[in-house]
Amino acid sequence: MAFELPALPYAVDALEPYISKETIEFHYGKHHAAYVNKLNELIPGSRFENASLETIVKEAEGGIYNNGAQVWNHSFYWNCLSADGGEEPVSGKLSDAIVRDFGSFAQFKVQFSQAAATLFGAGWAWLVSDRAGKLSIVQESNAGNPLRQGLSPLLTCDVWEHAYYIDKRNSRPAYIDDFWKIVNWKAVEAYYLNRIS
Ligand code: MN
Repeated sequence: MAFELPALPYAVDALEPYISKETIEFHYGKHHAAYVNKLNELIPGSRFENASLETIVKEAEGGIYNNGAQVWNHSFYWNCLSADGGEEPVSGKLSDAIVRDFGSFAQFKVQFSQAAATLFGAGWAWLVSDRAGKLSIVQESNAGNPLRQGLSPLLTCDVWEHAYYIDKRNSRPAYIDDFWKIVNWKAVEAYYLNRIS
């Protein structure tokens, strides 16, 4: 049973002008698709032949882990973005938790942006919740995924160069600035409510 590339939750040009159609065509259509294909090549004959993607992310090593986690991470990343996004939550349980754990929404944004900007090389910045609902920000290199540490992802920013080089060249901070304008906070809140329920 092969894994499939999940449908993009919006049109390829939906995130313009913040993320271009060309970036999505390469990032989703080439990079994300390649991780799916490579994962499907590696699984036959391994102990993960009937495993879920989440089990692969939590338990696999080497190429199966790298490609499986990149499949998971990218599907999650697309779901964290929306053309209707960017409107920051000002009330509700997620908003309350952000203020409780970071001091203010502005402070959270500063810390998350810093985590995304300073991550050396390729990787992902994550907002995560622990089992008690406490929020934190983690940096993961390469295919890293916080599920490995028992943390629940709520939001991620892909800071591999392929995420921004077409649109922003070497300016990762410019990409992060535009990332905030399209964050799907309804999705982030839904992940959090699901986590604490
Ligand atoms: Mn990517």
